[in-house]
Amino acid sequence: MFDVIVAGGGPTGLMLAAELRLHDVLVLVLEKRDEPTNESRGQGLHARSVEMMDQRGMLDRFLAVSEKFQVGGLFGGIMKPWPERLDTAHPYGVAAPQPVTERLLNERALELGTEIRRGHEVVGLRQDEDGVTVELADGTELRSRYLVGCDGGRSAVRKLIGVDFPGEPATVETLLGDMEVTADPETIAAAVEEVRKTQLRFGVTPGENGVCRIVVPADGVAEDRAAPTLDEFRQQLRAFAGTDFGVHSPRWLSRFGDATRQAERYRVGRVFLAGDAAHIHPPTGGQGLNLGIQDAFNLGWKLAAEVAGWAPEGLLDTYEAERRPAGRRVVENTRAQMTLLGTDAGATALRELFSKLMDFEEVNRYVTGMITAVDVRYDLGEGHELLGLRMRDVALKRGRLYELMRGGRGLLLDQTGRLSVGGWADRVDHVVDVSEELDVPAVLLRPDGHVVWVGEDRQELHGRLGEWFGAATG
Ligand SMILES: Cc1cc2nc3c(=O)[nH]c(=O)nc-3n(C[C@H](O)[C@H](O)[C@H](O)COP(=O)(O)OP(=O)(O)OC[C@H]3O[C@@H](n4cnc5c(N)ncnc54)[C@H](O)[C@@H]3O)c2cc1C
Repeated sequence: MFDVIVAGGGPTGLMLAAELRLHDVLVLVLEKRDEPTNESRGQGLHARSVEMMDQRGMLDRFLAVSEKFQVGGLFGGIMKPWPERLDTAHPYGVAAPQPVTERLLNERALELGTEIRRGHEVVGLRQDEDGVTVELADGTELRSRYLVGCDGGRSAVRKLIGVDFPGEPATVETLLGDMEVTADPETIAAAVEEVRKTQLRFGVTPGENGVCRIVVPADGVAEDRAAPTLDEFRQQLRAFAGTDFGVHSPRWLSRFGDATRQAERYRVGRVFLAGDAAHIHPPTGGQGLNLGIQDAFNLGWKLAAEVAGWAPEGLLDTYEAERRPAGRRVVENTRAQMTLLGTDAGATALRELFSKLMDFEEVNRYVTGMITAVDVRYDLGEGHELLGLRMRDVALKRGRLYELMRGGRGLLLDQTGRLSVGGWADRVDHVVDVSEELDVPAVLLRPDGHVVWVGEDRQELHGRLGEWFGAATG
């Protein structure tokens, strides 16, 4: 019997598996595809995901193969300079195409001892008091204590547990593909500039080896969801730009819509939903992959605590309580972005106004904080302004905070030297050090870096430790 079966080996499932393996959870990833994807969907990691990679010692691997980018706003096609004073020590994104992110996460999950079975599709499940029986397409049955559906927007797991997925179906579709062109770069740039004056769902971005990433609105919404043909691209490019740029030799052709939905629940008994299985929305702002791995970062340590037997009552329920509002915020901001991306006179005027508003530093900071998810605050009640936020990286006298979080344990950062983690030392590290960037006596961080306590009162601290890390031992 496995502790946890993860259905789906996309970014969310792989991130979750690695988080679980940090705590020796016996985890199996079941992935329908035989081979990893080469689809260039997600274009990179935003600042909060960059921070997470740093917290787990993964950032250097991303930076070795990807460039940093610094774009503020990134809202409804509007880009601004990076805002001043955004609360992060990592004020940038990392331009890693989705196949690179998946390769690095896959590598790490394997290094940590995850078993990944490819070519295995989940088609059925039933749960009882002790666990979940998972049925595969070839008729095999497997048992685990918990199951997490990370199986994408059309999640079989979500349907099998009967969770509704309310929202709106696609009203527009966009063609996306990687292919070669014969037109010269100057002609392409001039045509793109002209079209984008009114249509922001249009772009030709030169990539490696002469392959361009082409984005162009489709002619309506395809009922059958079939991959588009190269001729469809040619036709739509001509319709918008008056030329098809001589596109040829496609590497990958796809279409995506603006369907926007969120699962009504993220948990039914022993089964959880994460990533696109729990929420879908248009790719504006490049948030979907990020949101999925952030779900995994939230769920991983909680599920591991439950498996290890020290989770306080209700800990697993905080996953839905925290991540559903975070997902809702993204779903809502993509709805707003789609309105801003309209081509009618009203949308154009709104975009101009919104662009001017984003020239105000505070507005730019607010929007960038939202898109990059560095401002996500979980509702942990009244208290210090840091409570519920994730703690940014800070320089310490001996090293820096994020370097101390590699093991995915709780952490008490104690500038007083008078505190202790008592009977929680097997789950929580006690670091006595000082930082010029931190003006509070001590903070208690969960394994995902969110602040659950600020202060210097030992009794209050032990109350909080019990609330988040279960009963003390010894
Ligand atoms: C055009 C486009 C551009 C995008 N750009 C960005 C961007 O710039 N930034 C960003 O953050 N996001 C972006 N996204 C969104 C991002 O691609 C998704 O949000 C992300 O892939 C979700 O990851 P996931 O692991 O939750 O799901 P998926 O990537 O869909 O992975 C699910 C996995 O589960 C497997 N699976 C499915 N069913 C089963 C089953 N029954 N049994 C076993 N396995 C199964 C699938 O084969 C797949 O490997 C973009 C999306 C699109 C379409």
